[in-house]
Amino acid sequence: MVANRDCPACGAPVDVDHAQAATAFCAYCGQALVVLPEGFEARGGRAKLATMPTAVKVGDRARVGGATYQVLGQVQYAFEDGVYNHFYLSGSAGEAWLEQDEGEFRLFNRTEAVHGAPDFDDLGVGESVTIGGGRFYPMEFNEGSVVGGVGVIPLVLAPGETFNYVDGTYNGDAASLDYALTGVFLMVGKALSPQDIEVL
Ligand SMILES: [Zn+2]
Repeated sequence: MVANRDCPACGAPVDVDHAQAATAFCAYCGQALVVLPEGFEARGGRAKLATMPTAVKVGDRARVGGATYQVLGQVQYAFEDGVYNHFYLSGSAGEAWLEQDEGEFRLFNRTEAVHGAPDFDDLGVGESVTIGGGRFYPMEFNEGSVVGGVGVIPLVLAPGETFNYVDGTYNGDAASLDYALTGVFLMVGKALSPQDIEVL
């Protein structure tokens, strides 16, 4: 657990009350801060998020896909068709990411680093590949960039960072394969309907 400290960019106190926090976003100036044992490392980019209606927000307690979570963080990404949000959830069912892309929702309750994944450029639509013992079926290729965030997340990332990702299925479940700067990550979960999400 890391003690709360002040934002090196603006001096405001930043709440880091979560053991898995790798990046914290200053609530006042939006600065992305890497959480290190000795303090914060400013990552630059005081990002202003696009405001839009979201099903949950940081600080909410919500029932999502049948389990109760605390919403600890949000990352907003931009891609070709606009912006979408990932909400970092933590609860008795474990940790998960809720993705909201306009009115479409996916809950990823499994995220793992993939070693020996094929190069992004070697994947093709509909050409399934074996990853981590399962079959990943690529459906949609995108380039994304990090707009910014709120709260704390278990990833190290910074506004402006770009990455490639592939949406598809993994052993029949909804999945996303993300080619981030820090590695390749497979997220697996399920599509949700708005009725599956309830702020408590
Ligand atoms: Zn700040």
